[in-house]
Amino acid sequence: MKRWLVQLVGFASCIAVSTAVFAAEPPRLVVSISVDQYCQDYLVRFADNFADDGLLARVKQSGAYYPHCHHRHAYTVTAPGHAVQMTGAYPNVNGIIGNDWYDRTTGKSRYCVEDKSVEVVGIPEGKPMSPSNLLVDTVGDMLKMKYGERSKVIGVAIKDRAAILMTGRRADAAYWLEKNKWVTSTYYRDDLPGYLRVMNEQDAIGQYHGQVWKLSLPADRYYNKQDDGKFENPPAKFDNQFPHELAEAGDLNADKYGDQVLFSPFGNDYTLLTAREIITGEDLGTDQYPDLLTINLSSNDYVGHAFGPNSLEVEDMTYRTDRQLGQFAAWLDEHVGAGQWTLTLTADHGVAPIPEEAATWKLPAKRNPLGPLGEAEKRLEAHLRQRIPAAQGEETLVQKLDEHQVFLRKDHPKFLVEGNWMKAQRIVRDWLLEQPYVAYARTREDLLANSSDRLDEMLRRSFHPQMSGDVQYVLAPYCITGGAGKGTTHGSPWHYDTHVPLLLLGKDIQQGTYTRDVSPACLASTVAALIGVNPPAANVEGPLIEALAQ
Ligand SMILES: [Zn+2]
Repeated sequence: MKRWLVQLVGFASCIAVSTAVFAAEPPRLVVSISVDQYCQDYLVRFADNFADDGLLARVKQSGAYYPHCHHRHAYTVTAPGHAVQMTGAYPNVNGIIGNDWYDRTTGKSRYCVEDKSVEVVGIPEGKPMSPSNLLVDTVGDMLKMKYGERSKVIGVAIKDRAAILMTGRRADAAYWLEKNKWVTSTYYRDDLPGYLRVMNEQDAIGQYHGQVWKLSLPADRYYNKQDDGKFENPPAKFDNQFPHELAEAGDLNADKYGDQVLFSPFGNDYTLLTAREIITGEDLGTDQYPDLLTINLSSNDYVGHAFGPNSLEVEDMTYRTDRQLGQFAAWLDEHVGAGQWTLTLTADHGVAPIPEEAATWKLPAKRNPLGPLGEAEKRLEAHLRQRIPAAQGEETLVQKLDEHQVFLRKDHPKFLVEGNWMKAQRIVRDWLLEQPYVAYARTREDLLANSSDRLDEMLRRSFHPQMSGDVQYVLAPYCITGGAGKGTTHGSPWHYDTHVPLLLLGKDIQQGTYTRDVSPACLASTVAALIGVNPPAANVEGPLIEALAQ
């Protein structure tokens, strides 16, 4: 195939090379899938048990496999993990620094995709969401710039933030689930398309009533042995061991039934069923103007939080996800046409083991090592006041201590005194570094000055100078904040949270295992190269060029 390689060498000394490969005949449909909380470790640890008709087997046969893909920002939660994929930019520039973050101007927490200027569409009352907090464009936006109405860009996920942040600002639509119904917002459109209205009206999600999630392989084939671990945290009426039975119709209220679907492989079934409806309903992939569909499989994250990465549930969920995706790829062959589509797969983050469980394996694991954050904030305030005395009754110097950062009250009169602002940051940093299980802390001044330490680089990519706090910190490996003694989470710069799969399959993908270090953020420029557009404006990662057919 004839292609032109255009290499724009970085304008700044060492930053980013943006390589655009203009395809003569781009794939008709690109499907970018993010599995929520999917560790690369699973693909290795469980390697023998993946099915022959799964996605992984097909990728190994004809796709591209990147075993060393890591997120390169520090705070590995869902929203940033999705925003980096299609922008090629990190939170320091794309503005999505967390799922929610403390807004120092309002004194309140702000959710990453909330937008009070729009309205929910699909149910009478719901939460208004849009990509207005995403400060940069995406590869989907570049596609819309090039082809306008002729190309469609659509996202679907149970989670609003995943559907919205993968698509971008000019997307035709993003659909997510609220109150068991597919919804969107007036940011995109004023009504739901007919095929989604029908699913809602017919209560399509109700088809899993009475279904049972059983082990898909004989029990002795599993590497994880834990089934009814005492630190597991399943949803209501779901039990903590196999088989997991979903309530019969009428036996449980709709919210609780909805949770059962979300916390099981049926959540992914439902999302992929809807993806098929979208592809058919919108005629995606039927002409020479490429379309982009982004999908997030959110159920892996719910299951992972509840049962932990060493549970039978997560292991079985992994096999089922791989088969669901293998079947989805086979469906694409039939409905879009073999050789007409390209699929990318990665994850927004990995996960830490449940700390109480990890402690039993003699790992230095700890839940809530700072104690309740409100109390840690008071201790920090007292410490800071001893060094920068503020009168009784005067406002606090510390505005907020959250799980990653400390906000100081910037406009406090004490900080207007020369030297105090910098001094306070250093005092807070040093206090944090004295706390057990705090591994690292950096002031905004530290981060704004360049250093090449790996953690500094990761923190810098998570630090937005206007939105982030004044001192950033990282807990020691295997330590997490939150949860009442059960379940687990992610969000750190440590290996288990950053290491995710990256797979490419379909048109214009060169078969191979590619061992260089890459990031999910490389997907933005890779998809751009596949569909023949320039990478998005703030992209800093080069494409996976060796895996693209020349
Ligand atoms: Zn999560």
